[in-house]
Amino acid sequence: MSDTDQTTADLGAPPAGGPGIAQVRKVVTEIPGPRSRELLVRQRTLLPSGVESTLPVFIEAAGGGVVVDADGNSLIDFGSGIAVTTVGNSADAVVRRAAAQLGRFTHTCFLANPYRSYLDVCEKLNEIAPVPGAKRTVLVNSGAEAVENAVKIARAATGRPGIVVFDHAYHGRTLLTMTLTAKNRPYKQGFGPFAPEVHRAPMAYPFRWPSGPERCAEEAADALADLLDRQVGSDNVAAVLIEPIQGEGGFVVPAPGFLPRVAAICRERGILLIADEVQTGIARTGRMFACEHEGIEPDLLTTAKGLGGGLPLGAVTGRAELMDAVPAGGLGGTYSGNPVACEAALGVFEEIEQHGLVERAMEIGGIMLDTLDSMRRSHPLVGDVRGRGAMIAIELVEPGNRPAPHVAARIAARCHAEGLLVLTAGSYGNVLRFLPPLSIGNDLLEEGLAILRSAVAAEAAAM
Ligand code: PMP
Repeated sequence: MSDTDQTTADLGAPPAGGPGIAQVRKVVTEIPGPRSRELLVRQRTLLPSGVESTLPVFIEAAGGGVVVDADGNSLIDFGSGIAVTTVGNSADAVVRRAAAQLGRFTHTCFLANPYRSYLDVCEKLNEIAPVPGAKRTVLVNSGAEAVENAVKIARAATGRPGIVVFDHAYHGRTLLTMTLTAKNRPYKQGFGPFAPEVHRAPMAYPFRWPSGPERCAEEAADALADLLDRQVGSDNVAAVLIEPIQGEGGFVVPAPGFLPRVAAICRERGILLIADEVQTGIARTGRMFACEHEGIEPDLLTTAKGLGGGLPLGAVTGRAELMDAVPAGGLGGTYSGNPVACEAALGVFEEIEQHGLVERAMEIGGIMLDTLDSMRRSHPLVGDVRGRGAMIAIELVEPGNRPAPHVAARIAARCHAEGLLVLTAGSYGNVLRFLPPLSIGNDLLEEGLAILRSAVAAEAAAM
């Protein structure tokens, strides 16, 4: 046994996670603590440097609104594993269903031999996705794979090659989805050449729109129409692909009216609209899907993250005639729609219905927005507060609204030291985003916001 093996063995049995875990913040060491730091040393000898964690505390258990690390610290979770454990970590119904499935069979490959839970997940998504008319769903393993398949389906159905995406977009890390993603570092640098036939339009980003937020929706829509008609040629475009609220790009909520305009522009030109709801979907924004906030009905819609409750599962849901344009054998993969992940997804839907989690996301959003808006009024370094439901962010700025990534990083570090897990985002790295699990209680939510308020105040005082 090596020294490092010995260290891990010494840790003893991990605490129980899931909904039964103690709902308290507890900071007993510096963060990361000595055990996490030791594991990080081991990580550096084993993993490539391209794999990096926001906060290298090694997790042993999680549930409700907390994660517990290897040093016994209990952190308030404002990240949900990047918008994945929306119904809570190790939520009851997810664990119950996935564990039962583990005991029955772990895999057949749906392409070899099917099983019912795959159909149940597709039936549910067909029922709830805001896609018009008869629908079909195909399951995959991740968000990137869902987006990649949506593009394949759109091309097969239209016979056109072009895909139009937006500035600040994030769609994944595979060759095609990295090409669709806007930000160069760290996602694209050195990884070219990129996939062809991807075109980029400006995003209706109200806070940073040059002529101001009032003109944003209209001018951004005009720019999209111009790109389609004049630069690419609408006949060459299979689909416009958009996140109804941008995730990694900094929780950019498009200017009101922009999404309906995009939908109309697509409709008028016979171009398909794909909504990437990988981060926004499955109750996160206070609706089952973020498209519903603006009443748009995409032709194809992608989900992942919250869908599997922590197990890897993604999906494309779309209009039946488009989905059926791909011939038999054209979609799928070895692990796509794994039976354990399907049972977990059915558990996710159970949790959402049983605990009214769509409404809970709205409540959490209301509490967060109240505090954050008052923070923006007192501290000019908080330039913007935005988001919907339990998907809210603040954008940190210097005078003149210049992006302040170092301020965001320092506030994040202050929060981490106090036992509040927050994530950064944004094309300029100056956004702090908050994605608490919907299972968090109000006490922990308020405690987390109080820590954030102190961190912002301390940063403002130090400037
Ligand atoms: N689309 C969006 C909107 C996302 O936020 C993400 C992940 N952050 C992806 C696609 C890629 O998902 P995955 O990491 O599961 O491949």
